[in-house]
Amino acid sequence: METIHTIAWMQQIALDARAKERVLGLVPTMGALHEGHLSLVREALWRCSPVVVSLFVNPKQFGPSEDLQKYPRNLEVDRAALEKLGVDYLFAPSADEMYPKSFRTAVTVEGLGDRLEGRSRPGHFRGVTTVVLKLFEIVQPRLAFFGRKDAQQIRIIRQMATDLNLDAEIVTCPIVREPDGLALSSRNSYLKDGERQSATALYRALDAARRAIQAGERDPIRILAACRQVADAEPGVVLDYAEIVDADSFEPSMTLRRPCYLVIAARVGGTRLIDNALIEPEGDAVSVSL
Ligand code: AMP
Repeated sequence: METIHTIAWMQQIALDARAKERVLGLVPTMGALHEGHLSLVREALWRCSPVVVSLFVNPKQFGPSEDLQKYPRNLEVDRAALEKLGVDYLFAPSADEMYPKSFRTAVTVEGLGDRLEGRSRPGHFRGVTTVVLKLFEIVQPRLAFFGRKDAQQIRIIRQMATDLNLDAEIVTCPIVREPDGLALSSRNSYLKDGERQSATALYRALDAARRAIQAGERDPIRILAACRQVADAEPGVVLDYAEIVDADSFEPSMTLRRPCYLVIAARVGGTRLIDNALIEPEGDAVSVSL
């Protein structure tokens, strides 16, 4: 595996892969890699060659009061994990390389990012779309792999790809969880002993909603009540939002007759965590994927 720090060299390799009609796959990450990231990498290795993993803690997607400085960074450990999987290139630019002092541009997808994560984290999605478009321009991927854990993020990236006629196919990969259900996240490393157990409340809340749906409940309000009850019962967990939203508009959904997400965000001690369930109609039944 070759580690690349400059945009110019990464672009050169990307153009070369294009010229040879190779199917280049990109997995954008902020590092501190865990099995969730690695599942995306495995999918990319299965479908693409060469595979580029980008590792960039993007300052533009962190708010002023967020955890940019303390965000976990361990390049050597990440590099070893990617090398072992057989990744071709690790693209790890510095912040100055990505955003020189003269940098002035931002990409905004209107509307879809105003609510939920966008409301709780102003400017977050603007930072995400800006860096993702920049990465796409540098790496020129045919396929780009993202995790469903960040469901609103993927919806916004897809919109950007459609609106700007981007050539990359956006691939959504399932959520990887700990045995007790907690969705893997680089931020889980912030959780202190007791908080780690409390953090499973997000999964348990989603699971309560799933059980209500499986028992025949179809009213989003009652399904959310079952979900919130579990989260509220856990001391140390402060719910930010729990909503059933249309998978396309990300506006609250009054029906399960269209694909939707139950999205949840909560603070566990000082750590903000998100999770979701995908709810899809299947004939008269409704499937729920956690
Ligand atoms: P991040 O490093 O947090 O920016 O995440 C990089 C990519 O990994 C994003 O597409 C995330 O959605 C994805 N990801 C993070 N956690 C998980 C998980 N538990 N399961 C699947 N994908 C994940």
